[in-house]
Amino acid sequence: MFADRVLSGMRPTGRLHLGHYHGVIKNWVQLQSEHECLFMVADWHALTTNYDDVGVIEESLWDMVIDWLAAGVDPAQATIFIQSKVPEHAELHLALSMICPLGWLERVPTYKDQIEKLSHKDLATYGFLGYPLLQAADILVYKANQVPVGEDQVPHVELTREMARRFNHLYGREPGFEDKAIAAIKKLGSKKGKLYEQMRVRYQQDGDDEALDAARALLADTQNLSIGDRERLFAFLENKGRVILPEPAALLTAASRMPGLDGSKMSKSYGNTIALREAPESVSKKVRAMPTDPARVRRTDPGDPAKCPVWQLHQVYSDETTREWVVKGCTSAGIGCLDCKQPVIEGVLKEQQPMFERAQKYLDDPTLVKAIVADGCERARKIANDTMKDVREAMGLGY
Ligand code: SF4
Repeated sequence: MFADRVLSGMRPTGRLHLGHYHGVIKNWVQLQSEHECLFMVADWHALTTNYDDVGVIEESLWDMVIDWLAAGVDPAQATIFIQSKVPEHAELHLALSMICPLGWLERVPTYKDQIEKLSHKDLATYGFLGYPLLQAADILVYKANQVPVGEDQVPHVELTREMARRFNHLYGREPGFEDKAIAAIKKLGSKKGKLYEQMRVRYQQDGDDEALDAARALLADTQNLSIGDRERLFAFLENKGRVILPEPAALLTAASRMPGLDGSKMSKSYGNTIALREAPESVSKKVRAMPTDPARVRRTDPGDPAKCPVWQLHQVYSDETTREWVVKGCTSAGIGCLDCKQPVIEGVLKEQQPMFERAQKYLDDPTLVKAIVADGCERARKIANDTMKDVREAMGLGY
C-alpha cells in the first residue's frame, strides 16, 4: 500500500568505532541497495541525554557523516539528513504528545534501564521521557514502513505502531470521507470502479477474503490515483477510517556483538574501541597491547584461544586457515601472541583502507559533505511536509 521506505538514525555523541560499523552501518549499506532509505543524524535525540554538554554534538556531527560515507553509505542511493533541520519531526512529536497516554511512555522498558545506566545524569526530564515518542514521530513523519532495530528497540517500534493506530482511530474519519471515497471510485474508470464496488460488497457482506485481496491488487495496479485517494479506497474497502499514518514494521537485525579490545562488547563507555578511521599505527599499537590468555606468561607456555580476547577478533577478521593456525600454534606454544595478533592487525587495516580512501575527498573539501546533507534535508523535508499537511488537516489545523 505504501512505498517500501526505511528510516534509521544515529546520535552524534562521539567518534564512531568498528562496533558501529559491524552493528549498524554495514546493514545500512546493504539496505540502501534494496529499499528507499533515509539515514538521520539524530541530534534532537542526542540532546535528550546530552542537554548539558551540547559541544559534543556539533563536534561529532560532521565527522559522523564522513564516517557513514567512508563506510559505504551512498548519497546517490540514500537520503542523509539532520533531524533538527527538518522541523516537521518536532511538530509531529508535539502533535502526537497531545494523544499519547503517559503510561505508554513510562512502561517503555528502555526508559527505566537508561535512567539506571545513566544515573550520573539528571534524566528526570520531559524530553527524556518523551524520546520514544520523538522516535515514533521520526518514523511516522516519513511513513516509513521498515525500521531496522535490534531486539531491545522492538518496544519502540511497537509504541510507534500504537501511536499510528491511535492517531488513525481518532482522526482517520475525515469530514465527507464517504463522498470523497465515492468520488475516488469514479476516478478508477467505469470498468474498474464497478469491479471495485462488487468486490467491496462481497467482502463486507459475505466476508469474502479473496474479494478483498483482489480489490487490493486492483488498487495497487492502478496508476492514476493520488496517494490520498488510494488510501481512502483501501480504507473504504474494509469500512475503516483513512490510514493517515501507516504502522511500520520492525526489521529485526541480528545482534552484532563486535568484540572490543578487552573481549567485552566494543563500546565507548568501556574504553575498548578502535575508531572507524583510526590511524594504522594506533590500530597496531592497540591490538599489540591487547590482553591475552593469562596462562601464557612466557612464550613457551601453551594457551587456550577460548580464554583470549584476540581470538574473538580472529572470528571477525580471519579466514578458516588462519584460525586453524592460531588454535594449533596457541595450544602448542608454537606461536607467540604478537605473531598471533598480526593477522588481526592486517584484517582491521584492510577493512579500513577503503574507508580512508572514500573519506579523503570529504576531508579535502568539507563543502561536499555539507552539500550532501543540505540536499538530503531538502528531500527529507519534502516528504515530511506532505505528511504534516495531512496531519494538520486531520487534527483540525488545516487553516
Ligand atoms: S596465541 Fe593468540 S589466541 Fe593464544 S593467547 Fe596468544 S593472542 Fe591469544
